[in-house]
Amino acid sequence: MDVETDVIVVGAGPSGLMAATCLARLGVRVVVIDGKSGPTRESRALGLQARSVELYDQLGLAERVLSEATRAPSLHPGYGRTEFGTVPLALLGQTITPFPGIQILEQSRNERILRDACEALGATILWRHELVSLDAHEDDGAVSVVADGPDGSVTLRAAWLVGADGASSAVRRARGIPFEGTTNPLSFFVTDALDATGLAEEGVNVRVEDEGFMLAFPMGGPGHQRLLGIADESPDVTDEVAEEAAKRMLADRFGVEYTETSWFSRYRTHHRIAARFRDGRVFLVGDAAHVHSPVGAQGMNTGLQDAHNLACKLAQVVAGDASEEILDEYEHERRPVAERLVRTTDAVFSRVTSRSRLARFVRTRLLPLVGPLAVRLIPRAARGERLYGYVSQTRIRYRMPGAREREHVLGRRLPWTGDNYASLRDFTWQLHGYGVDRPAVERIARSLGVQPVAHARDPFGRLAADRVYLVRPDGFVAGVAAPDVAVAALHDALGAITRQTT
Ligand SMILES: Cc1cc2nc3c(=O)[nH]c(=O)nc-3n(C[C@H](O)[C@H](O)[C@H](O)COP(=O)(O)OP(=O)(O)OC[C@H]3O[C@@H](n4cnc5c(N)ncnc54)[C@H](O)[C@@H]3O)c2cc1C
Repeated sequence: MDVETDVIVVGAGPSGLMAATCLARLGVRVVVIDGKSGPTRESRALGLQARSVELYDQLGLAERVLSEATRAPSLHPGYGRTEFGTVPLALLGQTITPFPGIQILEQSRNERILRDACEALGATILWRHELVSLDAHEDDGAVSVVADGPDGSVTLRAAWLVGADGASSAVRRARGIPFEGTTNPLSFFVTDALDATGLAEEGVNVRVEDEGFMLAFPMGGPGHQRLLGIADESPDVTDEVAEEAAKRMLADRFGVEYTETSWFSRYRTHHRIAARFRDGRVFLVGDAAHVHSPVGAQGMNTGLQDAHNLACKLAQVVAGDASEEILDEYEHERRPVAERLVRTTDAVFSRVTSRSRLARFVRTRLLPLVGPLAVRLIPRAARGERLYGYVSQTRIRYRMPGAREREHVLGRRLPWTGDNYASLRDFTWQLHGYGVDRPAVERIARSLGVQPVAHARDPFGRLAADRVYLVRPDGFVAGVAAPDVAVAALHDALGAITRQTT
């Protein structure tokens, strides 16, 4: 069988399915191949950050996501068997995003939601089709792929290819792109306990101890908890033995007990970044481009955002609305995000697991002393909102080409005002005004050839009434200008970003 399409996506994990859904929503022909027989059954990633729910909202999927997700109401830090107190999470970010706090939605459910959406939009997913070979013909502007399927091999040809095939990416290897970084010597276990006791039931539990740490996420239903910790490292130890050791360790050190589990797995933590996110007509997104420890529940979310960022650019190029050069911005924008993530999760992870005398002193002596006080102070801390912005991935800022003004919202996702996200579902270039006369917004937008969106003043004061904002299809602010000079200033910004003179 031979297939011709605009974009081939290799890998139907969260990143590949998000890329395919966005591309299909934007009218691009897309075919996804994956070696599995369907969405993963393992829950794996759990934490869904606010920015990811905003992407789902843009795709009209937030209602289903929220109906299947559980909002984590609180964080319960502690030492050993003792809990320091409760940090409320549900209200964090209430003025920042329509989806405050953090949602718990297993990776398997994310994949099913995205699979349904991208198929409904006309994308094709070829399950049980493993990538065998990849050729990128720069001269004739095409990429071709051979995949092995249940009915023999399939040849696919497209203008572009997105490698979303996870940490061991065959696409990355086929293009000879090094995966630079380190592998943590420790192994971790993850298990779904069905009747766990010794934990605050409702929220996320984080406990440290002399020899390690434990994380517990509520999975819905009494006693149903996802537990993570450091696994038995003895060589050649079987999963059964490691599972017994994990169970004993949780009971002895943290007072957490259970009799039944539905899943147990061990894994190594890597901190690695691909040397290039783009290689001609081939791109890497998600775990294929970067991997880090699960500290902070960021991995799946970062992949979803890579995919969304790239898909919005590819769709403009396929439609002929932007020059191919804008595709370089994918790496310019997303690499710094990946680098910061790998750096910070690596640092946090090393502190939690380090066996140095200083780290052990901090864990065993200092933390039990200051922990209870910190838990009382954190919710009131001025930096709380800023920290939430980082964790929820709503504070990400890109450098905008051709940007002249150093406005604080330039390069960030459009700040939320309470009712201004509905228009983003159109995935178009837009001109937003907040408290600016509607006719002025319409006149400027018409001159620029973009969609006008006029709102009342921003109640949170992040968007000024004496400015207009040029917003990209992915919801990022690409230009800011005073209304009287906006046509000229934003015409340049638009030209610099699409690399086309409009
Ligand atoms: C135990 C655990 C807990 C985690 N917890 C969190 C968390 O709480 N929050 C968070 O954000 N992240 C978490 N992560 C990380 C998260 O699971 C990954 O970041 C996420 O799955 C990356 O998605 P992806 O689509 O990029 O890659 P993957 O999910 O790995 O998907 C890759 C896909 O490509 C397919 N594929 C691979 N090779 C080929 C080939 N040659 N041909 C065809 N198809 C191929 C695979 O079958 C797979 O479907 C966790 C990870 C683990 C292991």
